[in-house]
Amino acid sequence: MLRSMSAAALPDAHGIPMSTVRTAGPRAVPLWWRDLSAAVAWALVLFVVSLWVAGGGLSFGNAADGITTLGRLTGLLASVLLLLQVLLMARIPLVEQAWGQDELARVHRLVGFSSFNLMLAHIALIVVGYAASAGSSVVSTFVEQVLTYPGMLLALAGTIALVLVVVTSIRAARTRLRYESWHLLHLYAYLGAGLALPHQLWTGLDFRSSAVATAFWWGLYAAALGAVLAFRLLLPALRSARHRLVVADVVVESPSVTTVVMAGRSLHRLPVRAGQFFQWRFLDGPGASRAKPFSLSAAPDGRTLRITGEAVGPGSDRLRTLRPGTRVLIEGPYGRLHAGAKVRRKTLLVGAGIGITPMRALLEELPAGREDTVLVYRVGRQDDLVLTDELLDLAQDKGAKVVAVVGHRNRERASWLPAQLGHLDDAEALLRIAPDVADRDVFVCGHPPWMDAVQQAARAAGVPAEAVHSERFSY
Ligand SMILES: Cc1cc2nc3c(=O)[nH]c(=O)nc-3n(C[C@H](O)[C@H](O)[C@H](O)COP(=O)(O)OP(=O)(O)OC[C@H]3O[C@@H](n4cnc5c(N)ncnc54)[C@H](O)[C@@H]3O)c2cc1C
Repeated sequence: MLRSMSAAALPDAHGIPMSTVRTAGPRAVPLWWRDLSAAVAWALVLFVVSLWVAGGGLSFGNAADGITTLGRLTGLLASVLLLLQVLLMARIPLVEQAWGQDELARVHRLVGFSSFNLMLAHIALIVVGYAASAGSSVVSTFVEQVLTYPGMLLALAGTIALVLVVVTSIRAARTRLRYESWHLLHLYAYLGAGLALPHQLWTGLDFRSSAVATAFWWGLYAAALGAVLAFRLLLPALRSARHRLVVADVVVESPSVTTVVMAGRSLHRLPVRAGQFFQWRFLDGPGASRAKPFSLSAAPDGRTLRITGEAVGPGSDRLRTLRPGTRVLIEGPYGRLHAGAKVRRKTLLVGAGIGITPMRALLEELPAGREDTVLVYRVGRQDDLVLTDELLDLAQDKGAKVVAVVGHRNRERASWLPAQLGHLDDAEALLRIAPDVADRDVFVCGHPPWMDAVQQAARAAGVPAEAVHSERFSY
C-alpha cells in the first residue's frame, strides 16, 4: 500500500534555509554535446566512405570486382565503428557526461553488433570476391589469404577475439557468466582491434590510397589508444593517488546492507555530485583488483565519500568485513544521474530496493522547499527498508515528502506498483503521489524492468523524455 512516511512530520517550508544546498560539482554537460558527438561519429563514417570513393572504391567492372569492392567498404566501416566503439567506452568525461551510462551502454551494444556484422560481411565478401576473380574455391582462397598475406594471421586471431566478445555479450550467454569473467573476456575487444590493425596497414589499399587516408587512419587509431590510456588508466590512477582514500567507518544497516564511509585528501577538488557512482577497489586482500560499482549514498561533503551496498555476491559481501584504514582506489565519478542534469525546478525521486542509495544522496543535495522534492521508495517487504531514519530526517530538513510503496511485485503485468495495487494504473499512481509530476524532473534507480515501468508511467503522466533520468544497477 501507499504509505506516507512523513506527512505528519512535514515542517512548514518557511524558515528552511536554502543555504543547505551543496555545490559539490559542475553542472551537467549540456544535452547538445550528445548531438554533437553523434554528429562527429557520423561525419567520421561519411569521411571513410568518401575516402573509399576517392581511392577508386566504386569499381564494379564485373561481379567479382563488385563483391571485392563491397568487401573493402564493409571492412572500412567495421574498422571505423570498432574505433568509435573504443572511443565511446574510453570514459572520455564529456562523452560520458553527455550520454550517461544507460544510454552509452545502449549505443555501445548497437555500434558493437553493427561493427561485428560488418566485419563478418567483410571477410565473406573479400574471400568470395577473390575466389571468383581467381577461379578458385572459397576455402582455398581463405587459407591462402590467411597464410600468405601480411598481417592476416594476426587479423584471424583478432577476429577470434572479437567473436568471443560478441558471443559472450549475447544476453543469454552473458547472464550465465560471472561479471568478472564476462568483463575479462570483453577486454579482448581491445586485443581484437589491435590485432586487426597490421593487416589494414599492410594490405588495406584504402589505408595507403593517399596521404590523407593514411593520416586519418593513424590519427583515429592514435586517438582511440590515447583516450583509453588517458581516461581509463591515467586519470583514475592520478585521482586515486591524489585523494588517497581510506575506509573511515563501516556501518551495518541491516543483515544484508552495509554503509562504508571513506575519507581522503582534497576531496573538495574531486568533481563529483550526489547521484553519481565510482568503480571501487578495496585493497584488503585477494580479489582487490576487481572493481565494483557503487553509487554515493550521501552527498559529497568535500571530506568523505559514502556508499551503501547490498550483499549479493563476493564483491558486495566484503563491504561488511572492511577495516578502517583500508586503502581504496577509485575510477570515476561516472553517471548523469545528478542534479546538474535537471531541467525542471521540482523533483520526483523514485528508488527501488538498494536503488534508494543515489536517491538518498540526491535528496540531501537538492534545495529545500515544501514538497519541491518527493521521494518514492519501493520495497518488497517492510524489512527491506534501509536508511529510513536518515531519509525522514532529510525529508524534514528539506520539506520533502517521502512515500514508501511496500509489497511484492505484480506478476500479472509489468508495473512499478506492488500486486495489491494492481487495480491502479501506473501513471495514475504517480499522479496521486505527485499531481504536478509533469513539471518535475524524475530520477529513477532500481531493477531494470521495474525502472522501465516507472519511466513509462512518468512519460504517460506527461513528463518529457529529457526530464527523466535513470541509472541501472546492472551491466
Ligand atoms: C552504476 C551502478 C551503481 C551501483 N550502485 C550500487 C549501490 O549503490 N549499492 C548496491 O548495493 N549496489 C549497487 N550496484 C550493484 C553492485 O555493483 C553489484 O551488486 C555488485 O557489483 C555485485 O558484485 P558481487 O561481487 O557482490 O556479485 P557478482 O556475483 O559478481 O555480481 C552480481 C551482479 O552484479 C553486477 N555487477 C558486478 N560487478 C559489476 C561491475 N563492475 N559493473 C557493473 N555491474 C556489476 C552484475 O549484474 C552481476 O550479475 C550498482 C551497479 C551499477 C552498475
